[in-house]
Amino acid sequence: MKRLVLASNNPGKLRELGALLSDFDYEPVPQAEFGVPEVAETGTTFVENAIIKARHAAAHTGLPALADDSGIVVDALGGAPGVYSARFAGPGASDADNNALLVEKLRDVPEAERGARYRAVIALMRSAADPSPLICEGSWEGRIRLEPAGDGGFGYDPYFYLPELDCTSAELAADDKNRRSHRGQALAALRARLAEHGV
Ligand code: IMP
Repeated sequence: MKRLVLASNNPGKLRELGALLSDFDYEPVPQAEFGVPEVAETGTTFVENAIIKARHAAAHTGLPALADDSGIVVDALGGAPGVYSARFAGPGASDADNNALLVEKLRDVPEAERGARYRAVIALMRSAADPSPLICEGSWEGRIRLEPAGDGGFGYDPYFYLPELDCTSAELAADDKNRRSHRGQALAALRARLAEHGV
């Protein structure tokens, strides 16, 4: 089976991408298995960073590569942390550090004004020189809680409340999160695009 490099070192993201691509025509392989070093995410948009990561992984491996650039966009913070979600509390910040900062910044914001959404952009590059990467997006609406709930998912999930389900994304079963999430939506769109291309 042909291989597809997953251009991420984030264990939560790799777990979800691996599950979402388990029946794919290409075997998804994390970039660490090829010794791909981290690349600086110098873009200011999800789409730029997704392309930077996919191109970097494709260049190092000579294989097609898929990258997900994602983050949480919080209305009361003017859209922050956005593309800086992984490093909201500084370079090398842990999920706990980022979540603590998010809660601190929203502590005095009323619940109704704590609207937020996860955004994901997936870039698939057939090679490092691919001039027309496939780009697909997903978005998932929610609200930020000040107390965590649930131990599934990763990142901001214990604080990402889904009003229509009355739970956080960390309380969803893994396959349920994947069906609904920004990442799941982006990958569903990618599959549809690939089908159009006869892949
Ligand atoms: P990236 O590696 O720059 O794309 O960073 C994405 C960051 O956004 C992650 O490290 C998380 O902090 C956050 N994030 C993206 N998707 C999710 C999700 O599904 N659940 C929780 N946090 C997420």
